[in-house]
Amino acid sequence: RAKHAGRDTYRFFTAQMNVDVLARLEMEKALRKAIENEEFELYYQPKVYLKTGRITGVEALIRWNRPGHGMVSPQFFIPVLEDTGLIVRVGSWVIATACKQIALWRQSSVGALQISVNVSGQQFVEGDLDGDVISALTENDIPPHLLELELTESSMMVNTERTIAILDKLKKLGVQISIDDFGTGYSSLAYLRRFPIDKLKIDIAFIRDITHNADDAALALTIIRMAHGLKMEVIAEGVETIGQLAYLRHYRCDHIQGYYFSPPVTVTELEKMLLSAKRMAAPALPWNMYTV
Ligand code: C2E
Ligand code: MG
Ligand code: MG
Ligand code: MG
Repeated sequence: RAKHAGRDTYRFFTAQMNVDVLARLEMEKALRKAIENEEFELYYQPKVYLKTGRITGVEALIRWNRPGHGMVSPQFFIPVLEDTGLIVRVGSWVIATACKQIALWRQSSVGALQISVNVSGQQFVEGDLDGDVISALTENDIPPHLLELELTESSMMVNTERTIAILDKLKKLGVQISIDDFGTGYSSLAYLRRFPIDKLKIDIAFIRDITHNADDAALALTIIRMAHGLKMEVIAEGVETIGQLAYLRHYRCDHIQGYYFSPPVTVTELEKMLLSAKRMAAPALPWNMYTV
């Protein structure tokens, strides 16, 4: 009986694997079409500077408006783009689109607003990341400091020497560089020091329980102090509650990003938010009332 069950299990896994492989192939085909048909869109999530309560920048987060499926989250398709090498083309599109948006805002009543874009490791190895960035900045005639690149530790490890060379070149121009999901990777501090980093983004994993887990709170505080000691700025990701915000303010975190303030939104929604915030006299939120 055991043997029989074993064989059934085996067959079950095989069938499931076929389904996975087929689904994967189908998604790959759909993604190639999505590139041709321009089905991608950038959403923008505000980052708030805690000292003033003002929006000082936004993160560009890609969405796929897949026909018949609605908006697809990047967690489902970025890995496929990376596996197939398509991320290089899509990554160039993200940079070009973000730079166009920076220029549009600069010329409108929104004004200068920094956009950060997420960059995959492959973009440093295949493709021409520095070329893409430089031509997007030049074509749109925007100051380089309005563009920030977000790298994860794993994206920095694909080809370290080449990545450092590209980042050094872009950093000299004034492009800003941040480490995303900080604290969850495997690289040593000695390794990270070799990269020209302006800002650390504390991963949501440390923020989630910051108000009731002393270890997480200690880690978040340590990251903030380390960043400041190294003359870097620090931003907390995934801030959802006023309690988390109060802790981060108390710990002198520079910026926050998260659903508490706003989820990622469309350009139109963001513009509405920015213009109404601008019309208000003082900082938009009464955060001064919530010091710990
Ligand atoms: P990430 O860069 O770490 O982005 C943060 C993710 O957390 C986003 O998910 C955002 O919507 C979500 N988030 C923001 N605030 C909160 C909050 O308060 N609570 C919770 N639970 N989540 C929050 P999203 O948009 O689904 O993106 C997922 C990941 O996909 C990103 O993580 C990034 O690694 C990747 N990604 C997104 N856009 C791009 C892109 O253009 N290129 C590349 N290479 N990767 C991208
Ligand atoms: Mg990011
Ligand atoms: Mg992140
Ligand atoms: Mg992430």
